[in-house]
Amino acid sequence: MKTVFEMHEPGKNAYMVDTYGIAEGEEIPAGLLRDELDLPDINEVEAVRHYTYLSTLNFGVDSGMYPLGSCTMKHNPKINERTASLPGFTSLHPMAGRECAQGTLEMIYELGNYLSGVTGMSRFSIAPAAGAHGELVAVMIIKKYFEEKGENRKVILIPDSAHGTNPASVAMCGFEVKSVPSTPEGDVDMDALKEVLDENVAGMMLTSPNTLGLFDRNIHVIADLLHEKDALFYCDGANLNAVMGKARINDMGFDIMHINLHKTFSTPHGGGGPGAGPIGVVSKLEKYLPVPVVEKGEEGYFLNYDRPESIGRIHSFYGNVLVMIRAYTYIRMLGAAGLREVSETAVLNANYLLAKLKDHFYLPVDRTCMHEFVISDKGMPNHVTTNDIGKRILDYGFHAPTVYFPLIIEGAMMIEPTETESLETLDTFVDTMLKIKEEAEKDSELVTGAPHNLAFKKVDAVTAARKPVLKWTKE
Ligand SMILES: *Cc1c(COP(=O)(O)O)cnc(C)c1O
Repeated sequence: MKTVFEMHEPGKNAYMVDTYGIAEGEEIPAGLLRDELDLPDINEVEAVRHYTYLSTLNFGVDSGMYPLGSCTMKHNPKINERTASLPGFTSLHPMAGRECAQGTLEMIYELGNYLSGVTGMSRFSIAPAAGAHGELVAVMIIKKYFEEKGENRKVILIPDSAHGTNPASVAMCGFEVKSVPSTPEGDVDMDALKEVLDENVAGMMLTSPNTLGLFDRNIHVIADLLHEKDALFYCDGANLNAVMGKARINDMGFDIMHINLHKTFSTPHGGGGPGAGPIGVVSKLEKYLPVPVVEKGEEGYFLNYDRPESIGRIHSFYGNVLVMIRAYTYIRMLGAAGLREVSETAVLNANYLLAKLKDHFYLPVDRTCMHEFVISDKGMPNHVTTNDIGKRILDYGFHAPTVYFPLIIEGAMMIEPTETESLETLDTFVDTMLKIKEEAEKDSELVTGAPHNLAFKKVDAVTAARKPVLKWTKE
């Protein structure tokens, strides 16, 4: 396949430039010339075909099952796109006065209430732009809480199974990260926790259910231990897919949390597109929420900036509104009973796959899982690795699972089917995994040399890492 630069033929053009008042023969002023711009000359048909073809090389949740654990790549109902493109939302100017923005403000306000309903948290800010951003904002709140109490606590505890964004957010706020090990059964090691927990600990961030797809059986004990030291308990709730309508994060003893709307609540994500990482807090932390907060007054909804103890502004205007509309639509479409069914089905689907695969792949922790589970490449024949399996499954029309995460399981494959896959698709996925295992036994080069059926073949990962080519240049 040629790059668009290799298709260049001088004189082929796909544009008609207006002269914008420059008379024929007159030179374009030097300051406006873009000399360094080295664009190829190709015509419109070629340009359209080139980019349309490129778009088909992508794998998306609309092309097939995407069992990318921790990322909750579920189907994005198309009705979400309809509502998010309603002109009343899309043509609202961010500087419009409150009289013109009542619908959008009401949607944000109600969405916050729904999230409170799902989690039991007393109030939400939906402004953070992603999970990691929500973490950062929430850790800023933890910091402010202790500053106002006149305490200078330095440490935040994080289990070794955590998502990498957790320690990054904590470090960015100037806290020291202390890692807490997990037991072989996948829970927080309680003895190790007690050893590091003292008055210098501002809080603990725990993913619930954790990244092994397990619900920590000591959650209440952990919450009590933290609260005894007046530390705050933070839930990384990026994926609530297992617990909606089943268990509330606040009832587990958490004080503060974030949610990824672009995971649990079906808004499209991946490739760095916009997301939303709302944070929820218990009542004693409400006053620190970022401004503006959407409130309901006598004259309708408004943005309240008058909150002296707030940590301040963390996003332009309201946040990523179109993401919120998608999540709002999803919640309204399903209702409370529907959300509960989402979680039941997500957990059932994950346990179905777990039961079908556990006799064939190494399962480090054999417990009932939540919305995802982790297997590994331990014991695979002919030194076939997780990386090889991840590549080979692409040949069969599936996206790869999450690989080599969580870090505590060597060669991890983290699988999350979500509730939106049919039994038929789940069975095809199982058959494919078993087929790859058989290939690994009988004809392992099929697996180690994969992918074979894609536009791109196996990448030389070592050379790519040692000598990265970050910019295409004409030779
Ligand atoms: C995805 C995820 C995050 C980070 O969310 P982003 O929106 O990618 O920043 C944090 N924690 C967990 C457990 C996640 O799965």
